[in-house]
This record gives sequence, structure tokens and C-alpha cells, in this order.
Amino acid sequence: MTDAVDPPAERLLHDLGITEPGEIDVEVIACAVGAVVRYRRLGVGDARIVGLGDRAIITVDNRASRVRQRFSVAHELGHWHHHRGRRLICHGAADQQVGVAGCEREADGYAADLLMPRFMLEPLVAGVPMSFDLVYQTAAAFGVSAMAAALRLADVHPAAFALVVEEADGRRWFRRSASLNPRWFVRSAASGVSVTADRYGLSRANATFAAPAQRWFLGQGAKDAQAFQTIDVMVCGRAIHLIVVA
Ligand SMILES: [Zn+2]
Repeated sequence: MTDAVDPPAERLLHDLGITEPGEIDVEVIACAVGAVVRYRRLGVGDARIVGLGDRAIITVDNRASRVRQRFSVAHELGHWHHHRGRRLICHGAADQQVGVAGCEREADGYAADLLMPRFMLEPLVAGVPMSFDLVYQTAAAFGVSAMAAALRLADVHPAAFALVVEEADGRRWFRRSASLNPRWFVRSAASGVSVTADRYGLSRANATFAAPAQRWFLGQGAKDAQAFQTIDVMVCGRAIHLIVVA
């Protein structure tokens, strides 16, 4: 537990007496805050919410994977908590994709807090080195996608690391962990190395290489530091680099 005030999603879990990852049933939680969840085919996006007064209906695409549906429900509950009464068009959960702004980011943050609350995740990662094994263990334990788990670990895990994600269309973005030196910049592409999912291929996924930290980071001290990099290609098709500072 941190000393910080619990975020609203974690307060809700406490209020409902939910203490284990397996108890985070998004339909039951939705019901507790006045929202009903329905599953049907949606033309646009993964989910939407329509609210009237203190009641709401969340509709989720019935073709999405179960982990995506859970994240979508949690995301819409984020809108229900933060943006009730406001007119907004939600294009569905972004699975915590970096780059979404404002209301969508707030809803994604709420979803991460609800599905992977700090008070459950922190004890699980305590003393466990950051790795893709941990990402997949977290994803399995909390019923979320590996990408959502990786990004949440960047908030919660005490190690200094960065995640650099390559989208299928070639775009790159990164997420830094809370304890990465705030004065270090993350290079979105490793210096002097052209790395793509295709070049690495699945056969080399999850192999860890030692590398000078400055290959991935710019800033005072990066020149003398060592890092360990691992690449993984996730089910969603995105290649993700994990660069842990030694
Ligand atoms: Zn939304």
C-alpha cells in the first residue's frame, strides 16, 4: 500500500470488500454503481455507455476477446465515475494506448486501477525482477491483456525501465517506469540499431541482451550505465521492447 490517497477505482474495490484478483467481476462492480452491462455486436468501437440520471447501460462488442471486454467495461466505468452527465463520444477502451488524451486517458487510468489495483499488484511484484515473464503472470492473474499488464507494471514496479512499443503500422511510442531517472530521455528508436518485430521474429522473442544504457536513453549518467533489453511480440501484433536499467 502506498501512502497516497486511494484512487476512486481502488476505493470502490475496498467498499465492495474485493481483496483478490479473481473477485474483480466487472459486471458485478458495474451493477454496484448503477450500470448494466450488455454484450452485442457494435459497428464502431469496442464499447459505449449511455447514462440517464444514476443509471447507465454499458454495451460491449460481443466479438472482442474476454480480456478486452473486461478492460472495456472498466474503461466505461471510468467514464461513468469521472464524466457522468457530460456529453462525450467514446470510441472504446484504448487498451491504455499512449497518446490518447483527456477523458479517454482518465477512463483508461480508472480501468487500470480497477483491474490491477496497486494494493493487490504491489505485493505480487515485490522482490520480483521486471521481465516479460512477470508481464504474462500479471496478465493471467488479473485477466487483462499483456499490453495492459506491461503498462500497469510501469506504474507500479519499483525497477527503472522503459517500454518501447512498435505498432503494426510502424509508429513507435514509449512508456517510462515511475522510478526511471526523470532527467533521462527515452529514445523511441535505439541509437544505431534498426529494430523491428520482423527482424527479430518470434524465435528470438524474450531473449535478453545486455546493452549500454545510452543506446536507449539520453541524459547525464546514461553513458556509464548498463541496461538489459528484451523484445517480445504480443498477441495484438505489437512488438514491445523492455529496457531495464541495471
Ligand atoms: Zn472512452
